[in-house]
Amino acid sequence: MATSCSTTTDTGCAPAKTTPKKSAADFQQAGKPFKNILRLPEFETTPEAITATANLTMTKANAGLDGIGKLGAGEANFANTIGALDNNGVLIAETMNRLSLIKETSTNAALRDAATEAVKHLEEWSVGLDYREDVYRAVKAFADTQPKLTGEEAKLFEETMRDYRRAGLALPKTQRDEVEKLRKELSAVATDFESNITKAQQTLTFTKAELEGAPESLLTAPGVKTGADEYSIKINVTWQYIAVMEHVKSEAVRKRVVTEQHSLAKAENAPLIEKLLALRYQIATKLGYKNWADYQLEVKMARHGKTAIEFEQKLRDGLQPKMEAELAEFRKLKAAETGDPNAAITIWDWRYYAEQLRKTKYNVDSEQLRNFFPMQRTLDGMFTIYQRIFGLKFEPIEPPYKWVDDLQLWAVTDAKTSEPLGFFYLDLFPREGKYHHFAMFPIIDGKRNADGTYQRPVVSLVCNFTPPSGDKPSLLDHDSVATLFHEFGHAMHALLTHANYVRFSGTSVPRDFVEAPSQMLENWVWDKKVLDSFAADYRDPTKKIPPEILDQLKASKYATYACFYRRQLSFGLMDLMLHDQITDTNTAEALPLSTKTLSDTFLPLPEGTAFLCYFGHFTGYDAGYYGYAWADAIAADMATEFEHSPDGYFDIATGKRMRDEIYSQGDSRDVSVSIEKFLGRPRSIEPFLKKIGAAPQP
Ligand SMILES: [Zn+2]
Repeated sequence: MATSCSTTTDTGCAPAKTTPKKSAADFQQAGKPFKNILRLPEFETTPEAITATANLTMTKANAGLDGIGKLGAGEANFANTIGALDNNGVLIAETMNRLSLIKETSTNAALRDAATEAVKHLEEWSVGLDYREDVYRAVKAFADTQPKLTGEEAKLFEETMRDYRRAGLALPKTQRDEVEKLRKELSAVATDFESNITKAQQTLTFTKAELEGAPESLLTAPGVKTGADEYSIKINVTWQYIAVMEHVKSEAVRKRVVTEQHSLAKAENAPLIEKLLALRYQIATKLGYKNWADYQLEVKMARHGKTAIEFEQKLRDGLQPKMEAELAEFRKLKAAETGDPNAAITIWDWRYYAEQLRKTKYNVDSEQLRNFFPMQRTLDGMFTIYQRIFGLKFEPIEPPYKWVDDLQLWAVTDAKTSEPLGFFYLDLFPREGKYHHFAMFPIIDGKRNADGTYQRPVVSLVCNFTPPSGDKPSLLDHDSVATLFHEFGHAMHALLTHANYVRFSGTSVPRDFVEAPSQMLENWVWDKKVLDSFAADYRDPTKKIPPEILDQLKASKYATYACFYRRQLSFGLMDLMLHDQITDTNTAEALPLSTKTLSDTFLPLPEGTAFLCYFGHFTGYDAGYYGYAWADAIAADMATEFEHSPDGYFDIATGKRMRDEIYSQGDSRDVSVSIEKFLGRPRSIEPFLKKIGAAPQP
């Protein structure tokens, strides 16, 4: 803990915390009366150890599966089939979790490389596990006894059988082989599609005059100025692309950049899109589904493609009036700037005029907010809130092993009963070779052991906050504060679990729900009362955030919500429509359908472009993009429970309900049930429509 207090001006860092008073052993001891096991991970510290761990895991897991596969007729029961598979899952997941973390965080390049190799190897090996016929035979023998199960066991049983059905194991041998062959083909085409996107690079050159309006940070970035009056913009590098689209005055330049960017990988990926869609359709129908959307969504909250499509269409229609109003604002700005009273807003205009609107109408200076969010003060403030609403106590302990010097380790206990619940690490600042984004990495998953003890979870937050520099502490921008509240919400979800099986533990919930609790917690950082509970100018902590800055920031975000969401919806709808409408006989219609859906839902695409060819989410997130909006709607609905409670975002009773009905449950019961138990009423989309300024829907 002391290590994060890098400057004395960081007033949020109380000296009492600089020396951890307890050790991991103290919490291990305290866990005993609760039958809680509080293990810390043992990290591999050499490449050889990493390879050995991966090999040992595969050997042990294979032996576990052999054991299940050898069960004779009449021997199969719940514990030695379904339960044993979950145990095997624990073994594999724990190794994968730890090696993935090493791969993303180690300060030693050789360790990162070894972990990368090991993770790849484990992934390839694990693909074949679902197809082991001997194991399936034993599980099927148990299923054929038509066991009478209830609760979490019944759900685990049903979902294990569903996995086998989805993998094709329930099909006759010849058809199953066909599905397996199609899957391999699909995976190969998907890999090609992805690498074509990675390889698609294009540089356009401009004069300084052409780039009028571009920020200095773009013009002076390494590699951009390539001649006396020549600037090279890499349109495949997102931040360069966005910088041009938001700031460059010339419409001709913006149009050229959009047109070229929307044509990246077109020649290479257009034929692959048809192949991918045909293969997905064939696999889905061979497995008994109407199409790929229905196949993919069976395991999500939405359940059916049509449900997700209707949800997105409802949002699209609800946003129509606000979208028109936003475009009218942009149009006014464009007419004034160009002198053309009939100026229309195009896809190469909206980012530019949205930025103009932010600058002129809302006058937002978000950089100024940083002074109010020194890292340690913000962390402490968030901890105070989460400890209060979820009834917890966080205490720093000295990590027995540190992968980086300023690593922090914290123990979580229940404030009322003193039951230790788990540990979390904080790895806060960027460095060479480290993961580039912000994420919660699970390390040890929660699970009930056969002897009745409970393995408590361990997680790590891996972040890239602005590091301290000179006499300045680490100062966060408002977006980063939201990210911190969000990611730490995932940590709560993981740490507060009480699910018995690892399959249902923590954040192992359907993908169209998993972001919702964390998205809900992002609301906290827009609340003046919440912010005033900790945010203060690091140079003079008596100074709170001026209310007008927050109001401006809020108003400016709201001013372009419809455009933001209609663009999101255009991706979500395109993705769903393709996987609902395209079969293996009409693949030639795929690109036109994608272009039409994007153009109708957001803004018309430039002539001759093929955005889908450069859409990375077409693989890996296929028929799943709608999940962002779906989870946002649930998040807004859940937030109202706090907003309408006596203490608002500090409300203890609502926090306890959140902990008991959502976090604690994980996926051990249907999440739709958990959400309604938390809400105490059926779900509603109205709070979300209201939040984004959409009209109520019938
Ligand atoms: Zn998240």
